[in-house]
Amino acid sequence: MPGLLEGKTALVAGVANRWSIAYSIAAAFRREGATLLLTYQGDRVRAQVEELGAELGAAKVLNCDVTNDAELAALVAALQAEFPKLDAVVHSIAFANKEDLSRPFSETSRDGYLLAQNVSAYSLVALSRALSPLMTGGGAIMTLTYLGATRVVENYNVMGVAKAALEACVRYLAAELGGKGIRVNAISAGPIKTASARGIKDFSKVLDGVAEHSPLKRNCDPAEVADTAVFLASGLGRGVTGNTIFVDAGFQIMGL
Ligand code: NAP
Repeated sequence: MPGLLEGKTALVAGVANRWSIAYSIAAAFRREGATLLLTYQGDRVRAQVEELGAELGAAKVLNCDVTNDAELAALVAALQAEFPKLDAVVHSIAFANKEDLSRPFSETSRDGYLLAQNVSAYSLVALSRALSPLMTGGGAIMTLTYLGATRVVENYNVMGVAKAALEACVRYLAAELGGKGIRVNAISAGPIKTASARGIKDFSKVLDGVAEHSPLKRNCDPAEVADTAVFLASGLGRGVTGNTIFVDAGFQIMGL
């Protein structure tokens, strides 16, 4: 049986290691037959991501710090030369200063606030502006968000505010790009142990709380997030845009 993404080319930004949510998404995209392109942030991680790209069967691994407009332009030029048509783009990127994920929210510095917004929310706008012209047959752009966008989650702080902006960006981008057949959605994943998550103070308490209180009585698996990304990137998701889809073992429906 042909894979759900056979004949499609997908760019996945945010694979840092095997625990990255983007790694699971990239693996699922390959499983479904997509031509896979990965991006990494600078020479510091180049060798590591190239190794992961080889393991995943990626067609190309390219540099792109999403806060750097020149690097975004260079990415587009490199793609135009070799992969002029994109069908799916995954933005799985976020960053905030570690101290802003532990101290009281009101002590967030102006610089820390702007940094979190720039890397974690504005970058979706920049990436969409750069790559949507390559999505000539329409397609899907997706990003990763978290419940802390709309509810107060202890220590998530400035990242929650950035995720709220990110989810609003998804809606505005979806409205703008829908006419070109490009759908834009967010997947709101439940807590998953990754390098980024380890930066959040008392993250293990969040995992324990979800396992105890979610309808499925467990945490979500990155493979479940990845399968939702496949759905969105494939024809199965053709009627879905501007949405935040929760893949969190149902935790977000619970009150007490
Ligand atoms: P992760 O493996 O640490 O992934 C974060 C990625 O962002 C890394 O590849 C990192 O690259 C990249 N990045 C940071 N700044 C960048 C920049 N300026 N340019 C390009 N790439 C940059 O952690 P993750 O948990 O999988 O996070 C992926 C996404 O899922 C994030 O948006 C996160 O907020 C979201 N999410 C995570 C959870 C969770 O519990 N883990 C839950 C819901 C949503 P470097 O490592 O090279 O800096």
